[in-house]
Amino acid sequence: MVSTKPSFIAGLDPAQLLALGAEDSSPVAAEWEPPGLEEVARLFPAWKVQGLLGRGGMGAVYLMHQPELDRSVAVKLLPLEACREERQVERFRREARTLARLHHPNIVALHEAGVTPAGHFFFVMEYVDGLPLSQLIAAGNVAVSRAIEIVRQVCDALAVAHAAGVVHRDIKPSNILIDQHGQVKVADFGLARWEQPGTEGALELSQTGMFMGTAAYAAPEQARDAARADHRADLYSLGVLLYEMLTGELPRGVFQPPSRKSGSYVRLDEVVQRALQERPEDRYQAAADFKKDVTSVQNIAPAAAASGSRKAWWWALPIAALVILGFWLANRPPSTSLPTPPSGTVAIAPSTPPEVPPTPPPAIKPELLKEPSPPPKDPEPIVSPRVQPAVIVWSMESLSPALRPHAPLLKEPWKDAVLVRQGGAVLTGDGRSLAYWHESKPEKLQRLTHEQPITALAQTPDAVVFLDAMAKLYLLDPAQETAPVLVAGTVQKIFPSRSSTSIPGINQQGEAMLWPLNPADKPVRLKMSEPREMTLTSDGSVYALNADGTLFRLSPEMEPQEIPMPAASSLCAVGRDVFVLTQTHRVMQLGKADPLKEFQDISEIHGSDSTLLALDASGRAAQWNPSQSEAPERFRIPVDKTHLRLSPVGLMAAW
Ligand code: ADP
Ligand code: MG
Repeated sequence: MVSTKPSFIAGLDPAQLLALGAEDSSPVAAEWEPPGLEEVARLFPAWKVQGLLGRGGMGAVYLMHQPELDRSVAVKLLPLEACREERQVERFRREARTLARLHHPNIVALHEAGVTPAGHFFFVMEYVDGLPLSQLIAAGNVAVSRAIEIVRQVCDALAVAHAAGVVHRDIKPSNILIDQHGQVKVADFGLARWEQPGTEGALELSQTGMFMGTAAYAAPEQARDAARADHRADLYSLGVLLYEMLTGELPRGVFQPPSRKSGSYVRLDEVVQRALQERPEDRYQAAADFKKDVTSVQNIAPAAAASGSRKAWWWALPIAALVILGFWLANRPPSTSLPTPPSGTVAIAPSTPPEVPPTPPPAIKPELLKEPSPPPKDPEPIVSPRVQPAVIVWSMESLSPALRPHAPLLKEPWKDAVLVRQGGAVLTGDGRSLAYWHESKPEKLQRLTHEQPITALAQTPDAVVFLDAMAKLYLLDPAQETAPVLVAGTVQKIFPSRSSTSIPGINQQGEAMLWPLNPADKPVRLKMSEPREMTLTSDGSVYALNADGTLFRLSPEMEPQEIPMPAASSLCAVGRDVFVLTQTHRVMQLGKADPLKEFQDISEIHGSDSTLLALDASGRAAQWNPSQSEAPERFRIPVDKTHLRLSPVGLMAAW
């Protein structure tokens, strides 16, 4: 089974890999020695003991091969000294019984349980051929889209456990396993509590007033009294885990929102905040609600959210960090498969000399995917050991090189960016610094440091607008050398605009607004509260989605006018046209009855003056001009790029 899968750890030394897995942050872990491999081999003579997968406070987990069934299994063993304590044994047995009740692809499956002739209790689980999330976090940043996908799958597992009356009570990275296909498996139900009356074991295992769990991840009520923690404590722990994946840190004391720390989507701040509420009643009440919210971020996020569990390779990127250990590069053949855009078309790799003055662009054309390009049944891994440039820039048309972000900028970490008709701006470094450029000054990269952290960027066709932490909205004209102009205060959110006169957004009262870019004009209040997303077309029409994904046309005079359309997860304007991405991942054009057949399984859409850019979860992109009858141009974005921006004239940047 192991050998037939496309293995990303194929080149790794198993001993080294096992050693990597053999640590758990559990504080008691150090107090006992797990039985050595030879001893374990004597305990399981019929099976081949291959290594220690991990150990925690309560047991050691070994990788074994069962020749009879030709399968690898993970065997959790309770050490003999613990087998003499009734409480420990009962807890161990109950862990097995808990797993036995739970059948779900996101929960480690139990095969059998037993006692060795020497008296060790053990149970046999499916072997998850991958790594615990703790290793992925330690190996480097988990990309935002990965973090979202992991949380979604943990939510599915928790929904099933909670429905069965099981509270896990120890959700933390070392208990979340991720296999080679990106499939998440929740493990370690050793501290689980059964909520339903009558299903408790013979012993009340969690004494009142006792702490159980892992302090950094435990909900406040669980830290006070584990016996009282209900399923909402797991959702709190999942919030901690999400925060950690996004920022690399634990949310301690008064903590900053993840977007402030790491430039992840601002919408995730709300999810984290909701999950981490002190009082259980203020939190997500169900795993499904948590999942719904992260999913909506995933669908709306201005990034190539690489979502799919169908992708075999997506999680392998953090592994690439482990690969620094050396053996990967030595052992992996270079990957083949679908063309990625465009190393030829791509502007600059970090090592390329600066482009000042700019050299004329090569005929900028990404390597196209053949048309038609139905998704392959079993996508080949496209992870390449080659390091991609940090930022790639390309266009389907030949555009003036002066439109492109300046070369030095491509080496800096981008937190956010907007591309306008004749230039653009990048939010870099500390989240207060904007670097911007304009075609009229091809040699000049301008920089400004704003007094407050910048929390969002958006574009009109020609200008950059940004929102700061004081809820102030500023206009930055990249053609000018003047300071940004204050446009409005009390602004909560902003959205892209295809009109040069105003910017749509939401004020701090939750009202939909249009802020004119000319400060002499009055802001326009639209009759809709709490829109989820808005867009303004080039002819000045405003459209918005509400929380359910219903599309409305807004105006200052009339009540929002509902537009019959399947529920949508995002929308964008292409010139005067409006497109929505449905919650079933199809693309619809306003005014047309059927979804566009050109686009399937789409996870993200972007609009420019004249083209629509749609992306699927595995980075296949299609750019299409709705006013022409031609088929979309298809290409691929490298898997390590999670953010994509499209300029009004079709320049694209991904990082
Ligand atoms: P503990 O209660 O001792 O923390 P866990 O069930 O969390 O035990 O297992 C400890 C470690 O063993 C995990 O962090 C993981 O690395 C590894 N492990 C556990 N179960 C499996 C499995 N089914 N497949 C692969 N590795 C596993
Ligand atoms: Mg554990």
